[in-house]
Order: sequence, then structure tokens, then C-alpha cells
Amino acid sequence: MTASLNTNCTPDLDPGVSYEQGPRELFCGLTGIVWLHRKMQDAFFLVVGSRTCAHLIQSAAGVMIFGEPRFATAILHDRDLAGLADCNDELDRVVAELLDRRPDIKTLFLVGSCPSEVIKLDLATAAERLSRNYLGRVRVASYSGSGIETTFTQGEDNCLLSLVPEMPETSERRLLVVGTLADVVEDQFRRIFEQLGIGPVDFLPPRRAESLPPVGPNVSMLLAQPFVCETARQLIKRGVTHLPAPYPLGVEGTLGWLQAAARHWGVSDEALTLATQAPVTRARKALEHYRPRLQGKRIAFLPDSQLEIPLARFLGSECGMQLESVGVPYFDRQFHGHERASLPAELPVSEGQHVDRQLDRIHAVKPDLTVCGLGLANPLEAAGLRTKWSIELVFSPIQGFEQAADLAELFARPLLRKERLAV
Ligand code: SF4
Repeated sequence: MTASLNTNCTPDLDPGVSYEQGPRELFCGLTGIVWLHRKMQDAFFLVVGSRTCAHLIQSAAGVMIFGEPRFATAILHDRDLAGLADCNDELDRVVAELLDRRPDIKTLFLVGSCPSEVIKLDLATAAERLSRNYLGRVRVASYSGSGIETTFTQGEDNCLLSLVPEMPETSERRLLVVGTLADVVEDQFRRIFEQLGIGPVDFLPPRRAESLPPVGPNVSMLLAQPFVCETARQLIKRGVTHLPAPYPLGVEGTLGWLQAAARHWGVSDEALTLATQAPVTRARKALEHYRPRLQGKRIAFLPDSQLEIPLARFLGSECGMQLESVGVPYFDRQFHGHERASLPAELPVSEGQHVDRQLDRIHAVKPDLTVCGLGLANPLEAAGLRTKWSIELVFSPIQGFEQAADLAELFARPLLRKERLAV
């Protein structure tokens, strides 16, 4: 970390985190549809928005053009307030046509966006009306992915939040893992929980949105992603116990995450060590391969995905990278405080964005690697700096022991490319 990095931020209530406000450069919450539609195989995402929204999700998830897509945009044209009744009729018509053509859809999400016409439209009421109309056939939920209200990964939080009231009650002792994980990672965790005698284990979102996991006072919850804070709060209100833990990135993060569940379930540390010994040894050995490439390299994070703080913890403590600065779109003391505490106290950590100031600081410090949104990567690369797109970290399976080395490789690759180009 270099002392020359002046954050120029106003002090915040959270110790060790400053606050910045100004021009922002972030994807909106609609982006979450790209990974959520892959996860929930029986769900459909109908964005109620503009042509810009349609372009965003089509270009971000363009591969679906070869299959039966599970997202679409109902484009609203300019109307005055008096035209809103027609908007509801139009929405009902689009939904009727869609459900007629696609009987496989069991959950339909109406996703709100930025245009003023959409903001005026009450999508929650529309979802209730449509749910009544299609009772027993399809569940209709609504949430906002608007760039005014949400950043990139908050779309997932809003989507999951819309499902919480629908989750059935249980008095059974269960474990709930919250936040999208790749299926392969989910299966690995499921096997470890089974070995530890922890279960039944449910995942939110589930692979089929139709089968929502149950919640109740005997359900405990591990967060798999740092961006599901509002969902977690709502689950706590429904009686679920949150198990504070590091996020499962890297060997140590994954161990700490499993340990939180193990302790809560009365599993001894010895039993946990026994169950995790083989994957931990494998993961540490695989990580050794990347450590020499990352050791001592300076890295800065611009706010984008919300994964920045746990990633910094992994890259600093397990890969030996030198942390320059960490920016996050928002800091939630309840769910991020423990991860902040694991970073050096003197490391500049900022919440929010003033993109011009943050870029000025990056240009001044010239880190070996900058983790940032897609929109900022090209100008930084053009200025001779190496970048890593943070969106890639949300799309890739990076959690768990078996993925720790793959995660390190994602950061080693651009550095290696730089070395090759320099030869
Ligand atoms: S929701 Fe808003 S920010 Fe996102 S694509 Fe649509 S108009 Fe743009």
C-alpha cells in the first residue's frame, strides 16, 4: 500500500471506510438477469423498459439467441400519466402471449427499469394482479433493476428479496445458503455439508424457482455473496439466524465460511479438519503455482461488483498482493464489517463513487492491476495500465476450495499478458 494514495473522501460513520459521491460509472441491476436466468431454469425475466434496457440485456446475454431465451424486454414508449391504464393492458397482453407460448415458465419476474414511464407504472400491483389471474399456473413477482436505484449486483438482491414473502414456513432445522453460486460450486458445498452431517441444505436462488426453500426459526443462513444484504435482513425478520462468516473466496475464506456452519451445528473442529483436509491441501498446492506471479504486485479496486473487499482479503493474505485501495459501491456494516476488519486498518477503503477522482488516483498510483467495470477498462488499458473486469468475477465459479487457484489465475492472467507484451 502506498501512502501517496490520497482518498480525498469525507469521513464516514463506519470506521475504516470513507465515503465518496459524484459521477458514477456502474452497470445497473438489470445485469443480474444474465446469471439469474441461468440459475433458475423455470423462471422468465420480463424487463419493462426502454430500447436501452433491451440492448443491455441482449448484448450482455447474447448467447441465448441460439436457445429459447428466458428474458425479454417489453418496451414502453412515451406516454402521459393518463396513458398508464393502457400500459397495464399492454403489459397484461404481453404476459398472456408469453405464457401462452411458454408453458415451461413457472415464475415470471417483472423487472422495473429507469425510464420515467416505467417508474410511474406500479409493477408490484401489476404482479399481484397477474399472480391472481394465473393462480396455480405461474408465480409473478416484481423487482427493480433500475440504474437509479440499483448498482450492478443489487439486481440479484432485489430479485431474491421479491421471493422471500413467498418462501414457505418450516419448523425444521435447516441450513440456507443465500446468493447465486455456480451449480458445480453448489454441488461441492453440498457434499462437504453432507460429510459434516449438516443438513438439509437449501440454496437461494434455487435451481427451480418453483421450489422455494422453506424458512423459520430453526433455519440458519450463510451468505455466499456479499451483495444480498436486503434479502438477508428480510430473512432474519422471518426468523432465520444469520451465521457471520467470511465470504467463501480462497482457502481461508471457504474454511471460515464452513466453520461458521460447523460450529453452529455442533460439529467439532477436528471433524471439520478431517472433512476438508484433502480439498484444502489440493487448493493450497494449486495456489502455490500462482503465488510467485502475484506476490508483491500492486492492485487497486474501483467500486463495481461488491466483491471487492473479500477479493482484496484473498489476494492480500493468500496471494501476497500489495493492496493499494479498495472501492465498493456501498458498505453494509452488518454484512461487510467483518471482512473490512480483516484488511489492514491503514488500507484506503471507500464506499460510493466519484469516478473522476478515483481515476485520477489510479493514474497517479499506477497499480500493476486495476479491477474495474467494463466501461473503465479500455481507457485505463489505453493509458498503459492492466485491468481485470469485475463482471468476470461474478460470472465465473470462484467460490470454494477447488476454485481458489482458478480465482488466482483470473488475476495472474492479465499480468502475464503484460509481461509477454513487454518482451
Ligand atoms: S435500467 Fe436504466 S440504466 Fe439500466 S439499461 Fe435500462 S435505462 Fe439503462
